[in-house]
Amino acid sequence: MTATPPVVPPVVTRFAPSPTGFLHIGGARTALFSWLYARHTGGVMLLRIEDTDRARSTPEATEAIFEGLRWLGLDWDGEAISQFARAPRHAEVAHEMIARGTAYRCWSSVEEIEAFRETARAEGRPPLFRSPWRDADPATAPDAPYVVRLRAPREGETVVEDVVQGTVTWKNETLDDLILLRSDGTPTYMLAVVVDDHDMGVTHVIRGDDHLTNAARQTLIYRAMGWDVPVFAHIPLIHGPDGAKLSKRHGALGVEAYRDMGYLPEAMRNYLARLGWSHGNDEFFTTEQAISWFDLTHLGKAPARFDFAKLENLSGQHIRAADDAHLLAELEAFLAAQKRPPLTEVQRSQILRAMPGLKERARTLLQIIDMASFILVSPPFAMDEAATKALASVPPETLEKLTSRLRNVTWAASDLETIVRDFAAAEGLGLGKIAQPLRVALSGRTVSLGVFDMMEILGREQSLARLDACIKAGS
Ligand code: GLU
Repeated sequence: MTATPPVVPPVVTRFAPSPTGFLHIGGARTALFSWLYARHTGGVMLLRIEDTDRARSTPEATEAIFEGLRWLGLDWDGEAISQFARAPRHAEVAHEMIARGTAYRCWSSVEEIEAFRETARAEGRPPLFRSPWRDADPATAPDAPYVVRLRAPREGETVVEDVVQGTVTWKNETLDDLILLRSDGTPTYMLAVVVDDHDMGVTHVIRGDDHLTNAARQTLIYRAMGWDVPVFAHIPLIHGPDGAKLSKRHGALGVEAYRDMGYLPEAMRNYLARLGWSHGNDEFFTTEQAISWFDLTHLGKAPARFDFAKLENLSGQHIRAADDAHLLAELEAFLAAQKRPPLTEVQRSQILRAMPGLKERARTLLQIIDMASFILVSPPFAMDEAATKALASVPPETLEKLTSRLRNVTWAASDLETIVRDFAAAEGLGLGKIAQPLRVALSGRTVSLGVFDMMEILGREQSLARLDACIKAGS
């Protein structure tokens, strides 16, 4: 006997943001989880822009979502879908539900609904609206605009089997006959989401747990159409380090703000993956590892806390782990995004030479840029008081003497160090007394990479030119 293997349909996840002008960090995490799960299972991730709010859904706002996802390296399968463009399909489904008897037309006015609620409250009954049109004789239907309501069950319970939240039960008497189509024929959000998810073949809905109650209402819509309900995974929202709702100060920003702070996309992916999902005690991992490990069973039930210190720490680890050419490419993309001048060929090769030293110390691209400023800016340097003082601490003649010693030597950090040490000793000065003005002459700063490394990276010609310029300016 041969057993037929069970047919497992491919996983289809989706990310369904409403365009608000930027990709919020919480949305980015939802997108990441949907992406990781699709990539882990060999399924697909779809992107649907929930652009039914016409005032907010500008092309720029949609582009900001694409841009954020692209920066994070989260690619979606196929074309992004516009929810707004599907309004006729949503209306069609609402009418199909009327034909099936699972939805009905309702002509109650706003005033009637309010009056119903008032009376219910006064009589101590729940103020859920019960439309008189639910069971009205169709012959009595007026020729006037109507809304379409779901004929929701009034007895029993609606159960959502959520992968993260477990079994969540609602008494049907607490759920009303929600509106599916408004009187102008436009679909409500609740209907649009269900129709779209169904038509897109979505098997797994991963989203914030602020949508959990919607899942109960959406389940009723699936049932009303006789459609399969997808697997739901409602992830707890991200909180601030103090446990309160995430505020701007605590990281509730768009992903572009993190890009501008100089975090690498791979560090962001790693950090966001750890906000609500775990793989043993692993904190640092690559995206390939995350894809191979990601599952829905290890999504956390408690809200994750956003912690800048942890992000920065992970970011430093990713910088150290990255290869130099990749970091250079990220740095160039960063400079372009910041509208800063592109690197020259010389700067590019100098940065590559400096990279092993830079990446040991930097935790963000901004810090790399700061430490590489001796490469990026050319003299005359804008010096602060400490730098000016350090440069003036030796007479220009001393610097000139040293410079002439340096003209015909092997240009390697260790040789340069020996020469400068010997020179300082011969002058009866401590090494620091010479090294510090030398550092300022080369970089314009009192804090930098090791002065001899800096000389090696700049090369003979540039180093000597910088020293000559200082001597000239000082004499
Ligand atoms: N558009 C909704 C939001 O941005 C998400 C809807 C969903 O994932 O079902 O919060």
